[in-house]
Amino acid sequence: MFKIIKKWFYLYVLKRKYYRVGSCNACGRCCQKIYVKHKQVIQTEAEFERLKRQHSFYTYLKVVDKDETGLVFECENLDKETKKCKIHRKRPGICRRYPQEELFNMGGTLAEHCGYKLIPIESFEEVFDRVKQKQKK
Ligand code: SF4
Ligand code: SF4
Repeated sequence: MFKIIKKWFYLYVLKRKYYRVGSCNACGRCCQKIYVKHKQVIQTEAEFERLKRQHSFYTYLKVVDKDETGLVFECENLDKETKKCKIHRKRPGICRRYPQEELFNMGGTLAEHCGYKLIPIESFEEVFDRVKQKQKK
């Protein structure tokens, strides 16, 4: 019964498509090789300078590369030796909530070997049946 209520709550109250399972193994990968998407993936330093004024998190980021997707950032709060966040207790909400399924909407993927997994709440068959039922109405 608990499972059914949980599923309903996630699907219809939280409007989620995935459960997040697992835990952080403090590998630090999600604090490096970051793309920033604001309407589109940030391509130029000028665009990024404008964005910085909108959220303090961006002030922690520095450009380390550019590839076919856009500018690549890393966070200056990452201690590269220990792989730990230097402001762990005061880290921004976006870091506390990582990873969230919005990552997929942004075209992103989980960092390689991340200790978390995002698992679909509904199976393919369940979604398929629901769509079929809707079409019958
Ligand atoms: S603030 Fe900390 S947790 Fe957030 S991206 Fe930077 S190093 Fe990672
Ligand atoms: S990539 Fe995953 S396991 Fe590694 S630090 Fe980020 S949240 Fe933790």
